[in-house]
Amino acid sequence: LLKLLKKSMNQINEIFSSSVWSNPKIAIEIVKSIKQKAVIFKRKYLRNVYIMEVCGTHTMSIAKSGIRDALYEYVNLISGPGCPVCVTSQGEIDSIIELGEKNDVIITTFGDMMKVKGTLGKSLSSLRLLNKDVRVVYSAMDAINIACENPSKEVVFVGVGFETTAPTIAASVKYAFENGVRNFSIVPFFKLVPPALKYLVDFKIGVIDGFILPGHVSVIIGAKSYDFLREYNIPSVISGFEPLDILRSIDILLEKKINNQNEIINEYSRAVNYEGNKNALKVMEEVFSVVDSRWRAVGVIKYSGYDFTKKYVYFNALKKFNVKIKDSLEPKDCLCGMILLGLKKPSDCPLFGKRCRPEDAVGPCMVSSEGACAAWYKYGVKR
Ligand code: SF4
Repeated sequence: LLKLLKKSMNQINEIFSSSVWSNPKIAIEIVKSIKQKAVIFKRKYLRNVYIMEVCGTHTMSIAKSGIRDALYEYVNLISGPGCPVCVTSQGEIDSIIELGEKNDVIITTFGDMMKVKGTLGKSLSSLRLLNKDVRVVYSAMDAINIACENPSKEVVFVGVGFETTAPTIAASVKYAFENGVRNFSIVPFFKLVPPALKYLVDFKIGVIDGFILPGHVSVIIGAKSYDFLREYNIPSVISGFEPLDILRSIDILLEKKINNQNEIINEYSRAVNYEGNKNALKVMEEVFSVVDSRWRAVGVIKYSGYDFTKKYVYFNALKKFNVKIKDSLEPKDCLCGMILLGLKKPSDCPLFGKRCRPEDAVGPCMVSSEGACAAWYKYGVKR
């Protein structure tokens, strides 16, 4: 029996190691190819290539897998505005804290938001010390359940995230509407990825030779949402999250850039299609309307966020509690905003790993599990 077990384990290991997504031999070949192309790129453009990943999960995967170190001398990998907690503006953070401080409500939020500090150093976590009821939930439906269990209290859900998070939240709001849950509302601080990309390329923020586009977001919005990028001299690849996905995407980007092909390539076709998820888009369209939104370091980007449509406006917590978003200053000496624009790296920040660490973070890029500073700190990235 043991022999049989060992044999079947060996077979499993063999299959696993030959899997395209975990085969180091394939990785080595792609790295070689990237390096060759990077040399050609440098001969043509007299500098190294700059590739921006626009997704916190990619940032984490790049740091964890050592891709950055492997390509350090050939490719500048820069993080863009791909971490939803990080791009939430300082004024928005302050308004969430103010809402929780001034009202007798139950605040519900994803865990990452708990420790993000407002201008006065307060956070949702510190509100608990003031006996405020702040709870971590895994979804907006959890918040609705809390509302149903506490009919005499108002339950506010902190709605932060990109197009990935928005559909389930929209479905929850629809559920609350249809089931008469009226003691529930949402702070609508959602952000949309394509307008942020457009902002970066329209205003020529930094040097970007190619985008690694977010996989999760693209599952929802579809490859068609990036068609506008064809007008710019920036090829883009929708990428999966395995190290080999990312390496392949970098290789494709270099090839396209060298050949002046401004294409949008869907490397993650096992999950992303051209049209996106029609059911998700439908519920989002019913519940949300596109509005201007404030981003950290940038300010307002046109048509880059969601508010509720007229039918669902009752669920807007800012309107319900008459909270205005302030023009707050970002934490002193924190370069998070510049990192989100691809203009700085975590190692450029004098506070990195010293005054700013995950257990006592100064800026959101170190708090969030998808933040660039958190990724560099966790996986010991140095450059
Ligand atoms: Fe901001 Fe901390 Fe990152 Fe520096 S290390 S940029 S202070 S989050």
